[in-house]
Amino acid sequence: MAAPEFDFVIVGAGFGGIGAAIELRRLGYDNFVILDREDDLGGTWHVNHYPGLAVDVPTTTYSYSFEPNPNWSRLYTPGPEIKRYAADVADKYDVRDHMRFNTVVTGARWDDETNTWQVALESGDPLSTRFLITATGFLSQPRMPDIPGITSFEGRVLHTTDWDDDYDAAGERVAVIGTGATAVQLIPELARRAADLTVYQRTPIWVVPKIDVRFGALARRLFARVPATQRAVRAVTDGLYEFLVYVGVLRYDSVGRLNGAARLLAGAHRFASIRDRNLRRKLTPDYEFGCKRPTFSNSYYRTFTRPHVHLQADGIDRVEADGIVNADGTKTVLDTLVLATGFDLWEANFPAIEVIGRDGRDLGKWWRDTRFQAYQGVTVPRFPNFLSLASPYAFLGLNFFNTMDYQMRHMDRLFGELKRRGATTFEVTEKANARYLDQMTELLGDSLFTVGDCASARSYYYNPAGEATLLRPMTTRAALREASTYPVTDYEFA
Ligand code: NAP
Repeated sequence: MAAPEFDFVIVGAGFGGIGAAIELRRLGYDNFVILDREDDLGGTWHVNHYPGLAVDVPTTTYSYSFEPNPNWSRLYTPGPEIKRYAADVADKYDVRDHMRFNTVVTGARWDDETNTWQVALESGDPLSTRFLITATGFLSQPRMPDIPGITSFEGRVLHTTDWDDDYDAAGERVAVIGTGATAVQLIPELARRAADLTVYQRTPIWVVPKIDVRFGALARRLFARVPATQRAVRAVTDGLYEFLVYVGVLRYDSVGRLNGAARLLAGAHRFASIRDRNLRRKLTPDYEFGCKRPTFSNSYYRTFTRPHVHLQADGIDRVEADGIVNADGTKTVLDTLVLATGFDLWEANFPAIEVIGRDGRDLGKWWRDTRFQAYQGVTVPRFPNFLSLASPYAFLGLNFFNTMDYQMRHMDRLFGELKRRGATTFEVTEKANARYLDQMTELLGDSLFTVGDCASARSYYYNPAGEATLLRPMTTRAALREASTYPVTDYEFA
């Protein structure tokens, strides 16, 4: 029997794929390839480059724990710096040479005869590999709104994930559809240039003030020369975020309802920014703070007070060749339509490619026929030698890097055991998977998502069946502990 071409195929060259590759190198593997449909690494930070893009978690926290970056220019760093960080880390850990770009993976199938994964590509021959890791991210499939007539619009259409860097809104009549985290960053930038800007809001978003600081040359030198200082800042930002998620989301029912204070803060922010009571009312969410990801901005609310910026909260009836007909019958004539409509999470991304495991089990179909589930947010029964990093119950609160940290630790324990036993395949048991799903269901019972008033939030934390299956409802510390101590007997090795 011919040996598989690779020990590992990783799908996705964002921070997930880079982290997995670093872990593989630590474990002593070198025969792996990282495939990505884009023409460069960085995942979401490569694809997104709209004006105003910046991280919305302090960058002291938003980085690999083992690779602090003393060069961040601010606490909330602009997008291009994060893309540069991804490239620097990939170079430093020698994983860039393993990357193949412009390579679209269409699916993967487990072959029981050869104990390999056959990975199908859009062009070229399939690849064979012993292990498969999908690191396709949670927010990677842009959502195109199915508004009547939208394809008949004859002006320029820009989705925020496909921004034209040469585009200048100067003098134009522009509309933005969507008021999520992306729109909150983009709208103030567009308002600076556009002659007329109309924002179509379906669901208002919670916005609190952004307490940002610049890291001057002195601070950066200090971070570089005395890494403990940056670690100390990270401990503060990590701790603060962890506390907010724990009290405001995870233990909403039993510990406390800090969300009231956050609501007050957002209300005060609106009050300080906007005099018009009617406008403030329209921008006020009617669901609990935290049901969907809240945002930070010091300019978003104020932008709506400018005379050439209009909020349309009554809805869209249809799009025509030259503009949008509003639900109230009025028409907004446009040059450019900006779609800040986010991502298809559950329909197109779970999983992002077709994955067929043992006995022909189709991962997407199985998740939909039963429940969305993955042991420790990483592995799935009947899918041997497969790690799915963008899984149900995988994402830890607000920070992708904490998620990556525990997933790398999980890999370390799993592949360490595989090597110790001289085994070639692993598969999580149905029993362990069911136990984890029960644990997640129980923990969620105490959370904002179950107890809070989230019905009108339209939050992507919920799947179409109404279950909040995106977040792993526990602290980073608990997830790291589980990743280091889970019983290895939760896996069958062969
Ligand atoms: P999003 O939060 O899903 O927001 C999409 C917006 O488009 C929502 O306001 C949604 O309204 C609206 N929309 C979608 N389809 C529509 C339709 N057919 N008609 C009218 N409105 C429609 O997406 P996002 O703003 O791109 O943000 C996604 C996530 O990316 C954030 O939560 C955050 O985690 C991440 N993000 C991070 C950063 C950062 O770190 N710098 C920046 C941006 C984004 P409904 O709410 O009514 O559905």
